[in-house]
Amino acid sequence: MRIAMIGTGYVGLVSGACFADFGHRVCCVDKDQAKIDGLNGGLMPIWEPGLEALVKSNAQRGRLTFTTDLRAAVTDAEAVFIAVGTPARRGDGHADLTFVFEAVREIAKVIRPGTVVVTKSTVPVGTGDRIEQIFREEGIEEVSVASNPEFLREGAAIADFKHPDRIVVGAEDDRAQDALREIYRPLFLNRAPILITGRRTAELTKYAANAFLAVKISFINEIADLCEAVDADVQDVARGIGLDNRIGPKFLHAGPGYGGSCFPKDTLALLQTADAAGVDQRIVRTTVAVNDDRKAHMVERVSRALGGELKGKRVAVLGLAFKPNTDDMREAPSIPIVKALVDRGASVVAFDPVARQQAEQIFSGVEFTDDAYAAANGADALVIVTEWDEFRALDLDKIAELLRGKALVDLRNVYDRAEAEEAGLAYYGVGRGKLDRD
Ligand code: NAD
Repeated sequence: MRIAMIGTGYVGLVSGACFADFGHRVCCVDKDQAKIDGLNGGLMPIWEPGLEALVKSNAQRGRLTFTTDLRAAVTDAEAVFIAVGTPARRGDGHADLTFVFEAVREIAKVIRPGTVVVTKSTVPVGTGDRIEQIFREEGIEEVSVASNPEFLREGAAIADFKHPDRIVVGAEDDRAQDALREIYRPLFLNRAPILITGRRTAELTKYAANAFLAVKISFINEIADLCEAVDADVQDVARGIGLDNRIGPKFLHAGPGYGGSCFPKDTLALLQTADAAGVDQRIVRTTVAVNDDRKAHMVERVSRALGGELKGKRVAVLGLAFKPNTDDMREAPSIPIVKALVDRGASVVAFDPVARQQAEQIFSGVEFTDDAYAAANGADALVIVTEWDEFRALDLDKIAELLRGKALVDLRNVYDRAEAEEAGLAYYGVGRGKLDRD
């Protein structure tokens, strides 16, 4: 099929490249000229494992093209996907749909009758209805609007897209359903579950999924606090409950709280939807509050490791991206942590394997290094904020030698207390007994 992908960010670029790899002809559109120029020159705008090779091979085959010319891409397309950003609106946390509606109005100017328009962006319930209304206002009647929320995870985006746990399609007519079945046919043949629902249900399913995962993370974080108070180990508790099939082992890692481009904004947007509908969602509301508090709590943990005083201390931070295998810094837990450390008088020296460029735009007064050991050199404490694989196998003896102080604050529970102590480090983990307690 001929597909136009409007918005060439994390989701649009990965989806576009994967659809092209399925054999479709995909034109990825973005209004960011520099991004499109870069892609046409073989430069990836984001760091995502396997993406560059996938984009290049499909571009070489002529199945994947990049342009700023939305009109040309849409005129030629049988299906138009909208994958623009839907950030939280400042002030109230409602999903900001400005980019979505701007794109829809542009699409409406040129779309051919019979085209299927699909929202891949995460959008609140009822957005598909409003999109249909905009098309009608623009005099377009014969268009099908469907919802196909995306569940990929950054850092594993291509594998997730090609081997999804499920594909959710919210469609109100056969044309949209048929088009999406055709587009996803290779996955369908691979027996990926396809769930066909009403459009509003599909829109809500995405928010419910992210809210549930956020709840799961906050739940284990609170259990970690309890473990510290009663001298139990959260990792064993997580394993003990995670082996229960009804619970499952994923998203049960205690840490500094969730961040990223989705959970924070999607939980807030779900609450806005609930408020507008007059239905309170107390669990999600509490989850948001628990997660916000958690980051301040993490800074206290560093302070305690340094004897209660951050002023004048040199703190090495490992990992800045919101999770490993991505350069995405949106709502990364490192942001409030590093900013609070700086505000409280510490000097911060940081290392992240790929997010440095993004981080430099966010932090001022932070020194960056090219590896973990250079960050540790002369620091009073080493704080692991993001669990990149390369931080899992540090030479702790060397770290202990390089550090001026001996504190290892392991916010991702990468190391065992015993091995850290053997290297001469004072170890502070998360939820692994009373020694971790604030
Ligand atoms: P992003 O910010 O990386 O990319 C959005 C792109 O859209 C930008 O490049 C921007 O320039 C472009 N854009 C905006 N308006 C445009 C227009 N009118 N025409 C052409 N291009 C336009 O965003 P993202 O992370 O890819 O997220 C996109 C959507 O997917 C969001 O709704 C998000 O919630 C959802 N989502 C994201 C993820 C993720 O892991 N990032 C996962 C699932 C769903």
